[in-house]
Amino acid sequence: MALRKILTEGDETLTKVCRPVGEVTDRIRMILDDMADTMHDANGVGLAAPQVGIPRRMFIVQIDPEGPMYELINPEIVETSGEQYGEEGCLSVPGYVGMVKRPNYVKIKGLDRNGDSVEYEGEELLARAFMHEYDHLDGILYTKKADDIHYADSEEE
Ligand SMILES: [Zn+2]
Repeated sequence: MALRKILTEGDETLTKVCRPVGEVTDRIRMILDDMADTMHDANGVGLAAPQVGIPRRMFIVQIDPEGPMYELINPEIVETSGEQYGEEGCLSVPGYVGMVKRPNYVKIKGLDRNGDSVEYEGEELLARAFMHEYDHLDGILYTKKADDIHYADSEEE
């Protein structure tokens, strides 16, 4: 298990448009594993490579600890529809939440850790997570889009 440092708002890496992953190598797989460890350690539901200081187009999403882990390399949004407005937070903006409008449905494609093409569909929270992480690859934090950003009530120590 290798934890990486999560960069926080204000760090320049988080504002950069990330470059595509050239080839899906063992190094990329190692980074994805570290990202999963780091996300789980921080109790997050998604993490993008730039958040751990790697300005490359890949992210992971796991909205339910018992559910599937989505890993997407060089993702592209294929289709979106509908609308949802709900609370969002980010491991790079610790302690805060805000209200963000997102599509309610997203179809997204990319490469998996073997370099094979994959396509996923998400609704509601999963769609929100895909869009949030995708935005990170373009250097966009949710705080740019959110209304009513406020300190979250602490539910855990
Ligand atoms: Zn985030």
